Amino acid sequence: MTTPAVTEPVTTTPEAPTHESLLAAVTDPDGREVLDPATGEVVGRVADRSAEDLDAAVASARAAQPAWAARSDADRVDLLLRVAEAIETAAEPLAELLSREQGKPLNGPNARFEVGACAAWLRATAATELPGGTVVDDADTHAVLHYRPVGVVGAIGPWNWPMMITVWQIAPALRMGNTVVVKPSEYTPLSVLALVHVLNSVLPADVLTAVAGGREVGARLSSHPDVAKLMFTGSTATGQAIIKSSADTVKRLTLELGGNDAGIVLPDADPEAIAEGLFWGAFINTGQTCAALKRLYVHTDVYDEVCTALTDVARAMPMGRGLDEDNVLGPLQNRAQYDIVARLVDAARDAGAKVIVGGDPDPDAPGHFYPTKLVADIDDDNPLVAEEQFGPALPIVRYHDVDQAVAMANRLDVGLGASVWSSDKEAARAVAARLEAGTVWINSHGGVHPMIPFGGVKKSGYGLEFGVEGLKAVAVPQVING
Ligand code: NAD
Repeated sequence: MTTPAVTEPVTTTPEAPTHESLLAAVTDPDGREVLDPATGEVVGRVADRSAEDLDAAVASARAAQPAWAARSDADRVDLLLRVAEAIETAAEPLAELLSREQGKPLNGPNARFEVGACAAWLRATAATELPGGTVVDDADTHAVLHYRPVGVVGAIGPWNWPMMITVWQIAPALRMGNTVVVKPSEYTPLSVLALVHVLNSVLPADVLTAVAGGREVGARLSSHPDVAKLMFTGSTATGQAIIKSSADTVKRLTLELGGNDAGIVLPDADPEAIAEGLFWGAFINTGQTCAALKRLYVHTDVYDEVCTALTDVARAMPMGRGLDEDNVLGPLQNRAQYDIVARLVDAARDAGAKVIVGGDPDPDAPGHFYPTKLVADIDDDNPLVAEEQFGPALPIVRYHDVDQAVAMANRLDVGLGASVWSSDKEAARAVAARLEAGTVWINSHGGVHPMIPFGGVKKSGYGLEFGVEGLKAVAVPQVING
């Protein structure tokens, strides 16, 4: 790519904010209350914006884009690294706000982990080699493939990993010379506004804007004529609505949608050795993770041992308020999600499945806490297996031969991730190759890496994020032939 000279001086890294100063920067005294899912207390207030506000943000982003694209790549890289530093400087207040608003504990693979991942992703995106280059160079032809900015990128995110997913969407878009308008989930707007506030202490004006609001703001962003590309992470139903609303403008789309990831434990697996990996594969972020293990298929030879080993791990994992340093599991983020999990577990129990871990929730307790559930002796067609539970309840299905397990894993219309667990990696890889999923992990589940492409198949969406593929996804190819 050609790299014009730096056009603006780079700002310095700002002072560390406090939790109070960060909240004050993003809260609006007249706004809607945002409640702590652990206690029901008010975390802060958000001003929900209108579709007209969104239009104004897109217009500003459009006006700022040529100057941002005209900077050198080295300059944008430098700014992304400074942004990563600013996040690290603000890490504790960001993690505290995330914990209070989203519910996830500070510790475990949760709030501090998420904020750390934001900085790590920015650094990795800054370090990724740009795509493109000479494709044919001979006596007759000289053809070079360039990746140009698309213009304004829209980013719509969910409530489960609000900061990290926002960074996944915006870091490659900024690196490639686009400006970005972010629409956070209505459940976790403050976390994203705070993150963007920290980023904007480094970035030039209007390169990155967050517009809080509901579905109508998201719908406007996905149909906006001046938004060239939309990065969407959320449910399959909303992804389908976005495909329709973006059709008139032929917007480019990356869709990271829902999943119902299967894990297959082969008969030679060591139950004790895999139990903790299975647990965190399923219960990371209290099960509210797109590529979490959501249905576990265990060979009958090791079924009872796997259930026992998982039970031991599950009983040792404390659930409670996120700000309590001891906890590693938190509440469901909202009552609607709590109701989905409770309905599915009740239906499983009514159908004769056995709850081997997990008591009944306390109806009088504050917050949306749903005790960790392991559900055994469950049929594959039970709704807890067939539907995405997105919470702390794992169904464990017994199987008798591997072909049967592969067929059950592949029978749904989603395919984000999957995993195979075995003491023989080659045997596990052979099974993995038969699974219909964008990523298949061996002896782990759900780990993502900024250099490894990530995306779904079937109704889990299309397009890839991360690494050089992620950079290509927020750019338009142009061949110069001659
Ligand atoms: P959701 O689809 O309800 O909402 C996501 C976002 O879309 C929100 O910001 C919402 O305001 C917005 N939105 C709603 N209607 C819209 C419309 N018509 N047009 C444009 N935007 C609209 O999803 P959620 O409940 O926040 O998130 C949970 C889901 O996300 C789960 O299914 C989960 O598997 C999935 N998810 C997928 C990934 C992935 O990488 N594949 C990651 C995280 C979550």
